[in-house]
Amino acid sequence: MTEQPMIPAAKPLIGEDERVAVDRVLRSGMVAQGPEVAAFEGEFGAQLVGGRTCVAVNSGTSGLHLGLLACGIGEGDEVVVPSFTFAATANAVALTGARPVFADISADTFTLDPDSVREVLSDRTAAVMPVHLYGHPADLEGLRAVTAQAGVQLFEDAAQAHGATFRGEPVGGFGSFGMFSLYPTKNMTSGEGGMVACADEEIARGVRLLRNQGMEKQYANEVIGLNNRMTDIHAAIGRVQLTKVGAWTQARQANAAWLDEHLAGVAGVVVPTVRAGCTHVYHQYTVRIDGASGAQRDEVVAALREEHGVGSGVYYPTPNHELVSLSRFAPAWELPETARAAAEVISLPVHPSLTPGDLERVAGAVAAVVGAGA
Ligand SMILES: *Cc1c(COP(=O)(O)O)cnc(C)c1O
Repeated sequence: MTEQPMIPAAKPLIGEDERVAVDRVLRSGMVAQGPEVAAFEGEFGAQLVGGRTCVAVNSGTSGLHLGLLACGIGEGDEVVVPSFTFAATANAVALTGARPVFADISADTFTLDPDSVREVLSDRTAAVMPVHLYGHPADLEGLRAVTAQAGVQLFEDAAQAHGATFRGEPVGGFGSFGMFSLYPTKNMTSGEGGMVACADEEIARGVRLLRNQGMEKQYANEVIGLNNRMTDIHAAIGRVQLTKVGAWTQARQANAAWLDEHLAGVAGVVVPTVRAGCTHVYHQYTVRIDGASGAQRDEVVAALREEHGVGSGVYYPTPNHELVSLSRFAPAWELPETARAAAEVISLPVHPSLTPGDLERVAGAVAAVVGAGA
């Protein structure tokens, strides 16, 4: 038992500046989508996606859904996605009427493996949508080679990867669209929200129409759309967070470097890999308990919490194709690295509010629990 306070697995940072910004919007009397959203879109694109046109929506999931629709994805299409991700990735594909087709991941980065993608292509494949899982870029070069050769689109689920780069270029800027989530536990938040970074103005216009009932001009509805608008209240929070996310990312990277150093020697623990040419923004700091079954890994999670007061998370314990909701899309082929990752992974606290003492406790707890062979 621990006398010390629990170290949470994640901690959204919302300060006085965000409260002031929200108050400014409330006092203006105009709270729905307006000038704050427009400013947020411009600032986000300039700061995080190399100047790409960005369109704000009410969630990351909406961003994926509308991005897919704006790029022409629908019934009869197949979109290749990882199964080792949050269900929103495949949900968005299925909601368009298209079929999510699951490919396997690379063992080192937990992201979509281009060789596996190549094996699952069919004459119905319309696109490939990698996830920059945990904040590490997928192999965009390898995936681009596959999509270019097959003549299909590339999309990016960058929900967890604000500011991550591949060969010096920001993720979210490679595909026809890239989506960033602004949910509270992500690297920055707007309360709820999503940002769609678009490769061209036609896609951006498509997302704008779809988020607003298909209207550019009021009551001149051009396409069948939704109401997926972001409010100015949320955008005001997001704009303040945008001024802080760079420093937070540096703090995450420093925490990760410290954990790397102090966990590398613990037998049975495999620390995260950063591939050459990539920057990792550590939405999660995810280790493997090498060779563990899911049940053994779950025992480690419980021991960290109960014996050491260290919160951790398992992202994700069940591959998407094994979920009740998505099992009808289960592939005929095996996804061995997906299965192994789902059993072995634990995400340890890496968030910017950790103190040096917290880090010591996290590393000490892992060494005690895993080293002791829990
Ligand atoms: C969070 C997340 C989403 C969905 O974003 P929401 O803002 O929660 O709708 C999609 N994909 C991945 C990989 C995510 O982590």
